[in-house]
Amino acid sequence: MTNVRTNLLDFDRNGLRDFFAGLGEKPYRADQVMKWIYHRLESDFGAMTDLGKSLREKLPEVAVVAPPKALLDKASSDGTRKWLLGLDAGNAVETVYIPEPTRGTLCVSSQIGCGLNCRFCSTGTQGFNRNLATSEIIGQVWHAAKQLGNVTHQQRRITNVVMMGMGEPLLNFDNVVRAMALMRDDLGFGLASKRVTLSTAGVVPMIDRLGEVADVSLAVSLHAPNDELRTQLVPLNKRWGIGELLDACSRYAARKPRSTITFEYTLMKGVNDAPVLAKQLARLMHRLPAKVNLIPFNPFPGTQYQRSDEAAIRAFQAVLLNAGVQAMVRRTRGEDIDAACGQLKGKVSDRTRRHAEFQRRLAAQATEVQAHAA
Ligand code: SAH
Repeated sequence: MTNVRTNLLDFDRNGLRDFFAGLGEKPYRADQVMKWIYHRLESDFGAMTDLGKSLREKLPEVAVVAPPKALLDKASSDGTRKWLLGLDAGNAVETVYIPEPTRGTLCVSSQIGCGLNCRFCSTGTQGFNRNLATSEIIGQVWHAAKQLGNVTHQQRRITNVVMMGMGEPLLNFDNVVRAMALMRDDLGFGLASKRVTLSTAGVVPMIDRLGEVADVSLAVSLHAPNDELRTQLVPLNKRWGIGELLDACSRYAARKPRSTITFEYTLMKGVNDAPVLAKQLARLMHRLPAKVNLIPFNPFPGTQYQRSDEAAIRAFQAVLLNAGVQAMVRRTRGEDIDAACGQLKGKVSDRTRRHAEFQRRLAAQATEVQAHAA
């Protein structure tokens, strides 16, 4: 008889309480177990000493704490680390840790591959396979925390999480929202909401939905200040143009005082780095509380694009700063281990379903959103 055990990493706090209620246990047992899992990074129920003997014995029969397992662990000369985490059927995703003097950022993936096909992104070239489960998303944080010796509330090695790895997080909405709830929950990793950032290529209706359920920081991959150019670089722009996208960003920002939206802009030589485009971008940014993150393009095999020259990057930034727009250049990290922005590839075992599956998902999402709005 196969005994399918429930992975407790798939539950947020309420889900875990329901699960324990289903076992005939009091809700506070769920809280105890959460502390073991996320504060002490314990996956062995036998070690959860305050649970009582009978529960300690019952849990392994029905449940597991099963994060994805590392297939590869690479360390960059600059301290960046990248793990390749193995999933089902030969699939794998990448997670990257970026240490800085005052913080440690974990870059987490949300899908196996990505269906958005942004022209300059390595993940885009490999196609889309499937969404990650909640356990596979929070499991990335769990795995990294364990490897790094993170201690919640004491010695935090991970101070920030950015959903900027592989995939489009807003197209895996429920699992991403649940995983982000665990990142922010006091019984989870306990990060402040503003230290959890979701980055999107611009799935407009889902930005509004995100605003309704989570007050995390929002980053938007813009990369071009006009629709003609943006549609070339980010095909999703055909569906939701810059005007609609910025309106959604304004609504998102308006929900919380003093919040700022980060706009990512990957600088590619001769493509989107002309000063006149910086001026256009500045005008757009004046419409809302924004800051711009300039990312020098990171090359990958087979790409037609090149990184902008240092002088062009500085000049682009200067135009923004002179126009009163906050703009910083994101220093490239982990390039020697292919862990920089846009270089994550993971492993996708089945690429054939890519387009059909992706289109189906997008259509389903749009229908769902319309139903939700009605
Ligand atoms: N799909 C989401 C999450 C991925 S974030 C989104 O698009 O926001 C990954 C970030 O790295 C995005 O801002 C993306 O545009 C940027 N990026 C992708 N390829 C890149 C490359 N080759 N060089 C530099 N940045 C890149």
